Amino acid sequence: LTPVPSDIEISRAQTPKPVDQLAEEIGLLPEELEAYGRSKAKVQLSLLDRLHTQPDGKLVLVAGITPTPLGEGKSTVTIGLVQALSAHLKLNSFACLRQPSQGPTFGVKGGAAGGGYAQVIPMEEFNLHLTGDIHAITAANNLVAAAIDARMLHEATQSDKRLGINKIDPASLTPQEVSTFVRLDLDPSKITWQRVLDTNDRFLRKITVGQASTEKGQIRETGFDIAVASEIMAILALADSLEDMKNRLARMVVGTSRSGQPVTAEDLGVSGALAVLMKDAIKPTLMQTLECLSMLGPFANIAHGNSSVLADKLALKLVGRDGFVVTEAGFGADIGMEKFFNIKCRASGLRPNVVSAGAPLPREYIDENLSLVAGGCHSNLRKQIQIADVFGVPVVVALNVFKTDTQAEIDLVCQLAKECGASDAVPCHHWAQGGRGSIELAQAVNEAASRPSNFQFLYNKEMPIVEKIRTIAQRVYGADDIELSPEARAKIDYYNQQGYGSLPICMAKTHLSLSHMPDKKGAPTGFVLPIRDVRASIGAGFIYPLVGTMSTMPGLPTRPCFYDIDLDPVTEEITGLF
Ligand code: ADP
Repeated sequence: LTPVPSDIEISRAQTPKPVDQLAEEIGLLPEELEAYGRSKAKVQLSLLDRLHTQPDGKLVLVAGITPTPLGEGKSTVTIGLVQALSAHLKLNSFACLRQPSQGPTFGVKGGAAGGGYAQVIPMEEFNLHLTGDIHAITAANNLVAAAIDARMLHEATQSDKRLGINKIDPASLTPQEVSTFVRLDLDPSKITWQRVLDTNDRFLRKITVGQASTEKGQIRETGFDIAVASEIMAILALADSLEDMKNRLARMVVGTSRSGQPVTAEDLGVSGALAVLMKDAIKPTLMQTLECLSMLGPFANIAHGNSSVLADKLALKLVGRDGFVVTEAGFGADIGMEKFFNIKCRASGLRPNVVSAGAPLPREYIDENLSLVAGGCHSNLRKQIQIADVFGVPVVVALNVFKTDTQAEIDLVCQLAKECGASDAVPCHHWAQGGRGSIELAQAVNEAASRPSNFQFLYNKEMPIVEKIRTIAQRVYGADDIELSPEARAKIDYYNQQGYGSLPICMAKTHLSLSHMPDKKGAPTGFVLPIRDVRASIGAGFIYPLVGTMSTMPGLPTRPCFYDIDLDPVTEEITGLF
C-alpha cells in the first residue's frame, strides 16, 4: 500500500498461520515443538540429533554501517532478504533474529521486529515478553547476585560450626559439598557480578545494598546492568547444547576471594539452579514473518550482539544444502560483525558464505545531496567493506531505500560501493514492497554464496591479550595504537596468571563511531584507543575491554517511546509500537 501503513497496522492486517501448521510445513515432528500461544513455539534441541546427517545450508551475515540511535534497517534487510529468497527465488530460508530488549522498545529505538512489509508477526508478541527468555535471564542473573550477598552475610556473621565447615575434611569433598561447607571468603570490593533489569533505568547504575538492620552492616556499593548485558545472555547465545550451557554457567566468575582466587557460580552452589531456570530459554523460538519463517535466539547487545548459535545451527539443518540462513549481527561491522567472526564463529565452528552490509542513506537529510552521499561512501561504507574483507568473506551491499532517496543517490551509492570493493551492491525496497522489493539482493547473495570464501580469523587466540586488543583497534577501528589504564594493565596481568590469556576479545565500545568518540563519524584516523578497564566473562568465554565511557545500563530520553504506547481495553489492540 502507498503510503506504507504503520508497522503495527501491517502486522495486524495479516493473520499468522497457527504455529503447529507452520512447524509441520517445515518438517518438524509434533513432539519437537512446544507451543507458546497460537503463533510462536519453542523448538526442541533434539531436532539437531535427528537432522545431524543433513548437510548445512549457506550462512549469510547481515551487518550494517555505523548506525544512528534509531537503527538503520538491519532487521528489515534480514527479513526482506529471506522473504525474497524463500517466497520469490523458492529457496528454503530462515532468518535468525535477536529478541528485542524492552529497554530500547520503550526507550529511543522502538521494537526490533523489522518494519514495513519486512517484519516478524505478530510484532507486538515478538517485541514484548516473547517466550519469557529475557525474564529467565533476569531471574537467573539476580539469583546469582542474591547468592553472593547472602553468602557474604552468612560467612561474616555465622560460626564455622553453623556453616557446617568444621564437620568435614575439605579434601574429601565433592564440588557441591565445597560450595556448602567451605568458606569462599569473597572480597566485597572485588565482586564483579551486578544485578540486571530489562528497563532503561539509569538511576540504578550505582546503588548501595544491605542497608536494612537485618543485613548487619554488610553494606556495599554495586549496580544494575540492562538484562541483555548479563553474562548469562551471552552464554545463552553461545552455548551449543544444554550440557555446554550448564558448564558455562558453572564457570562464571563472580568475584575474587580475599586471597585473590576467582570464585565461580559453581563455588556458590547456584549453577544447577541456574541451569533449571534457563532450560527453556536455550531453545530457539519459531515465529513467522509476513512471507516466510523466522527462527530467533536470545541476543546480547552490549556483549557480543549476535543471535544464538543454536538458532543458526538448527536453521542450517532445516534449510538443507541449497537453502539459506540469514543471521543478523548488531550495529556496524566494527561491532557485531567483528564479534560474529572472532567470537561466535570460533565458538560454533560455523563459517559464513556471504556478508550483506545494510546501508541506508543519511536519514537526517531529505533533499538530494550527492556530495554528502559520496563523502559517506568514501569514508564509512568503504571502511565497513574493508573490515569484512579482512575476514575474507564476499560482501554484497544492500542499500535500504527510503522514500526520500533519489534515483541519482541510489545509483551513486551502488556504483561507489562496488568501487570500494563490494562484490555487488543493489538497492532494496523490502520495507515498502516486502520480498518482491529485495529480489535483486537475493539474486546477488545467491550468486556471491556460490563463490569460494576464504574465511580467516583476525587474530590467533593464543596471542597475548594486549596484542589481540591492539590488532582489533588498528585493523578494524583504524586506531594508531591503544592506551591501557593502570587498572586495565593490572587486570590483564591477573587474567594471564589465572590462565584466561587465550580467550577471544569482546570489545565494549560505542557503536556510534568506528572510534571511541561517538561524534566522530565517517572513518576517523589518527586516534589512540583508550582502554579504561578490562573484565572477563569466563563462562561466556571472552575477555571484554571497556573502551572510553561505555554504559551497561542505558537511560531514557526526554521523549521516550512509551509515551505513544497504549492499549484499547475493549479490543485489546496495542497502539504506538513500531
Ligand atoms: P536495525 O535492525 O538496524 O536496528 P530496523 O530494521 O529495526 O533497524 O529498522 C529500524 C526502524 O526503521 C524500524 O522502525 C523500521 O520500520 C524503520 N525502517 C527500516 N527501513 C526503512 C525504510 N526503508 N523506510 C522507512 N522506514 C524504515
